[in-house]
Amino acid sequence: MQRVYNFAAGPAVMPVEALTTAANEMLCYGDTGMSVMEMSHRSKMYQEIFNETEALVRELMHVPDDYAVLFIQGGATGQFAGVAMNLMTGSGKADYVDSGNFAHGAFVEAQKYGSPRCVASSREEGYVRIPDLDEKTFDPEADYFYITTNNTIYGTRFASLPETGKVPLVADMSSNILSEPYDVSKFGLIFAGAQKNIGPAGFALTIVRRDLIGRAMPITPKVLDYKKLDDAGSMLNTPPTYAIYMAGLCLKWLKKQGGVEGIAEVNREKASWLYDCIDNSRIFKGVAEKESRSIMNVTFRTGNEDLDAEFVKAAAKAGLANIKGHRSVGGMRASIYNAMPPEGVKALVEFMKKFEMEHK
Ligand SMILES: *Cc1c(COP(=O)(O)O)cnc(C)c1O
Repeated sequence: MQRVYNFAAGPAVMPVEALTTAANEMLCYGDTGMSVMEMSHRSKMYQEIFNETEALVRELMHVPDDYAVLFIQGGATGQFAGVAMNLMTGSGKADYVDSGNFAHGAFVEAQKYGSPRCVASSREEGYVRIPDLDEKTFDPEADYFYITTNNTIYGTRFASLPETGKVPLVADMSSNILSEPYDVSKFGLIFAGAQKNIGPAGFALTIVRRDLIGRAMPITPKVLDYKKLDDAGSMLNTPPTYAIYMAGLCLKWLKKQGGVEGIAEVNREKASWLYDCIDNSRIFKGVAEKESRSIMNVTFRTGNEDLDAEFVKAAAKAGLANIKGHRSVGGMRASIYNAMPPEGVKALVEFMKKFEMEHK
């Protein structure tokens, strides 16, 4: 069986090199005589694997030393609560930008723990763009200002970051972390579910400035308390050991691609091929507004649901898998994360052109 080009939104494509290494090391890692899956998380060998993964995150994202890098279970959704319980503890207020379903979910979750406020929303417009922001409306007393840098379902991304002054900027980067350079020092906290652009599902990566932690709500579960996690090196209990090892293999691959800076150029090019194809097409139209377009999730449609379905089916037959849009948006979505090879995007563009020729 041949591998397909997998355009799934997450869990998503991973580098073949990482998968091959994992396969080779499956039964016996180094001279341990066992699989990484079978190792104690407290063993010296596993601790080395863990340390290397964390070091790669720090190196590839240029994480300053005063930031903790944490591996936390419960995925990105767990962090919706984690962020609020750990950080919404000063004024008890926070500003949220509602730019998509996940942003909305984070806002709703935060309501359990304090008084978050929605400062801007594009919900009424079907989230086809990043809402306009007016700094004058930002609450200077907010404990943090929350954004979702890339909106996976709609294919939108913040082209520039809001200026929040002394209020720490918190970002859900689940679907575009490591895809292009971000200056970590501009953020109080960044988190991302692993299964889109880091590695397999199993944890959220949280990068947080250390002066912001240590004031979690007393009700905070220990396993979501950033200070306790930091003090314990993310090992308060058994971490998802294998997922962290696999993430390390993916990060090693990323380093070989020239790191985040190197892959960003490839990503911009990959996205531009698809957007050029859409903009020059008679039958395909982009879903997201141009200024808000994502370089990780490209959404488009024909305007005819039956034709969309036909396209999705034919694409799958041609080895272009999981191109169907999210059920709330419809149409098509090509998720072209770091590990999607340029050849995969080229194949999709060629297929779109061929499909268009056949459907005048
Ligand atoms: C996928 C995704 C989530 C949810 O991630 P889980 O790990 O499944 O909880 C949250 N935010 C964004 C932006 C996502 O893309």
